[in-house]
Amino acid sequence: MKPANALLSGTGTTIFTVMSGLAVQHGAINLGQGFPDTDGPGEVVRAAAEALLDGRNQYPPLTGVPELREAVASANERFYGLAVDPLREIVVTSGATEAITACLMALLDPGDEVVLIEPLYDTYLPVVQLLGAVPKLVRLTPPGWELPRAALAAAFGPKTKAILLNSPMNPTGKVFTAAELAFIADLLQRHDAYAVCDEVYEHIVFDGWRHIPLMTLPGMRERCLRIGSAGKTFSLTGWKVGYVTAPAGLAGVVAKAHQNLTFTTPPNLQRAVALGLGQPDGYFAELASALADRRDRLARGLARLGMGVLPARGSYFITADFAPLGFAGDDVAFCRHITEAAGVTAIPVSAFYVSDAPSHYARFAFCKRPDVLDEAVSRLTRHFATERRVAS
Ligand code: PMP
Ligand code: GLN
Repeated sequence: MKPANALLSGTGTTIFTVMSGLAVQHGAINLGQGFPDTDGPGEVVRAAAEALLDGRNQYPPLTGVPELREAVASANERFYGLAVDPLREIVVTSGATEAITACLMALLDPGDEVVLIEPLYDTYLPVVQLLGAVPKLVRLTPPGWELPRAALAAAFGPKTKAILLNSPMNPTGKVFTAAELAFIADLLQRHDAYAVCDEVYEHIVFDGWRHIPLMTLPGMRERCLRIGSAGKTFSLTGWKVGYVTAPAGLAGVVAKAHQNLTFTTPPNLQRAVALGLGQPDGYFAELASALADRRDRLARGLARLGMGVLPARGSYFITADFAPLGFAGDDVAFCRHITEAAGVTAIPVSAFYVSDAPSHYARFAFCKRPDVLDEAVSRLTRHFATERRVAS
């Protein structure tokens, strides 16, 4: 028999599913896959339930229900001062995951080059490759995760079609600064390239850091496709409602990609998310401050244990250097070990690199109840105390 698609046949199951499976198998607290353990606002969930009962359950419009497109446009204005046409510049998708694929499909022809920044989210590279485009990797490295400007500039060339930029960034917690964004904007203009901006953690930013969409920089309104996710903004990751904001010409092509991927997204969820995006400013501030407290709680616990905890300015995640614990093995071994022996799961940071990855960092999700985070720290503390006793 002829083989199935070579790239997908050769792709392993995502690290998030693998580690969640291991967590279940070992009864471990899952600080691996990034999902909150409590649902988002009750009124948003109730709105979705009620919307099922009022007879609008057939295919909604291809680019999204009008209520949600209006709400996304208003949110662009409210949070970033971006004036957006809800009719022509918004496409609702089934999660940011679909939005990323749809935007890449909309931009890329085979042979086009795409600049990707490691550590990278797991869907970026396979989708670029499936489209026959050529990835140009630039890497950030811990502990500073600084943008290597010379390497970034060198990754751009005459064939560059786009950069895929994730800020606030998973797994690093990095929030790109105005100066870094200006540097990227300059490269995009000089090379006549686009940016797919994965901004799913746009409202999860801490300590007075501010999320700046690349799209708000001079000259960038026409070059950026900006992606948001209701899953992250409303702590409802299973809903898979995403939204793309893009100039009309590009949004029209994204809609064609969406038409061939899923065509539409469940109408009740879209209507509930529209309600959610209309929440007062306090909701968004509280989301960030509650998560900042959880970050601090987990970071303090891991630091007490002796790990080198890196700053996280946004997202659901902190990364920690476990080398000080004296564990003999790489990050994959470490994450398996703590799942099996300590009952706590994390994600190896090397999973976000193609090769030559840093090997002694683990990513921990802190979007969990405070008591769950405390229990995770207690388990790790007990485990490593026992290991130290055995070793001495
Ligand atoms: N991009 C990043 C960086 C993410 O962390 C996630 C989280 N799963 C996604 C995209 C996908 O978002 P969604 O669940 O809306 O598809
Ligand atoms: N975004 C989530 C994470 O980084 C996982 C989403 C998924 O499992 N595909 O943990």
